[in-house]
Amino acid sequence: MTDAVRQAALEAIGAEVAKCTRCRLHENRTRAVPGEGTAATEVVFVGEGPGVNEDRQGRPFVGQAGSLLDELLASVLWSRDEVFITNVVKCRPPGNRDPEPDEIAACAPYLTRQLEVLDPALVVTLGRFSMARFSPGSRIGQVHGTYRAADATSGAPAALTFAMYHPAAALHQGSLKQTLFTDMQGVPKALTEARALRASLPASAGTAVPNRPPVSAEPPSLTPGPETAPDSVAEAAAEFDPTAQLDLF
Ligand code: URA
Ligand code: SF4
Repeated sequence: MTDAVRQAALEAIGAEVAKCTRCRLHENRTRAVPGEGTAATEVVFVGEGPGVNEDRQGRPFVGQAGSLLDELLASVLWSRDEVFITNVVKCRPPGNRDPEPDEIAACAPYLTRQLEVLDPALVVTLGRFSMARFSPGSRIGQVHGTYRAADATSGAPAALTFAMYHPAAALHQGSLKQTLFTDMQGVPKALTEARALRASLPASAGTAVPNRPPVSAEPPSLTPGPETAPDSVAEAAAEFDPTAQLDLF
């Protein structure tokens, strides 16, 4: 799939999201927030759901939590237009309440399809609702700052997933801010690991895609690695020992 085809597929999903009525969250939304970024990326950030500013603008992470996310990206010399940013639910839960299980389930196919299009090497989860999707059963207090193979049903079977606290949590609990920045330093390393995992597997005809442009020119940069078949990567990821890297962080 070329990046132009990926971009068009993402836009088609976004157009569906904009008029979606699959769950009650559509009733109070101003705008749905499908997500944004580049289709030519290896890294996807997944938050929880739109807040008041996101609901007004139809764009993810544009409020205070978004400013913090921008700072986190800048701290590893990345920027938001080099990655893709989206959420578990695409419409704002009223009063910023937690999304309900049935709302998450109703919205799940959109995120799954976005990931199938993007085929990322790394999914960075922001907060526990996002983490639960890619690393079911994990506890954020234990796994933040570490990575493991992404759950195969997530839509990103060839990805590693890296757990982080939600930036909004640091706005309420100041001590988490330093933790977020410390954890963020591990994200480029996780990408390097994710690439090595994909590169170690045989590419299979028909699934290989052209190299994508680098997300950042600076080391540790997002220069593209070889693409490989999702199935074989998933198998290798299953054998990959996520505990082996815990000491690194
Ligand atoms: N918090 C989220 O989880 N997502 C956003 O888009 C903004 C704030
Ligand atoms: Fe549709 Fe998701 Fe919005 Fe619910 S939250 S209405 S499922 S786009």
